[in-house]
Amino acid sequence: MRKYVIMGVQGSGKGTQSTMLAADLDLVHIAVGDIFRWNVQHHTKLGAQVRRTMAAGELVGDDLVEGVVKDRLGQHDWNYGFIIDGFPRNERQAEFFLESYDIDGVIHLELPDSEVRRRVMARRHCDNCGMDYNLIDASPREEGKCDVCDGKLVQREDDNAEALAVRLRDYHGKTNPVLAIFSRKEYVVSVDARPPKEQVQRAIRTALKLPTYRG
Ligand code: AMP
Repeated sequence: MRKYVIMGVQGSGKGTQSTMLAADLDLVHIAVGDIFRWNVQHHTKLGAQVRRTMAAGELVGDDLVEGVVKDRLGQHDWNYGFIIDGFPRNERQAEFFLESYDIDGVIHLELPDSEVRRRVMARRHCDNCGMDYNLIDASPREEGKCDVCDGKLVQREDDNAEALAVRLRDYHGKTNPVLAIFSRKEYVVSVDARPPKEQVQRAIRTALKLPTYRG
């Protein structure tokens, strides 16, 4: 059983790296932002509660977030472990998490803010099937159209300059203390997120002493 947290600024590749790790090690990938986005898209009560906060790039209240994480992990479908992405995002969430779970490692993806802006502004996803693209190195075959289902490619509502500025400020202000909490327990491995995704994945595996990535 392996339990990991992945942290990193917006656009640092948390989703991509988590998916690669989860697929190979049979981990369940839990992305708190994805859970919220699913609820917004499906017009649930939770979606209505978080929609505006998310669109403005602000953080959702701790009680709501902790409830979502508790419910998700409470499903116990993670026989081989999990990798959680987008949580914890502040000191309170970190304390809450560490009260209930032992963590085997925290992966910290490092990316300079200038590169964050470039990457985030290039992100697109299909509004039909959810497939992710970016216009830097994973463009669709036909502009604006999903390769898989022909759906329309759109930007996340919070991938705009204003919301990104808020999210970056929050990240640096609130997430660094979380890293400090984890670092005291020596869980954290920091990895340069700038190289191609396969190289980043190999660096993560080496740092965590996991089987080599062969993709
Ligand atoms: P993400 O996909 O991780 O960038 O998350 C998208 C949005 O969901 C964030 O900007 C927040 O509004 C909300 N969110 C996700 N995770 C958390 C969290 N741990 N604490 C508070 N808000 C969160």
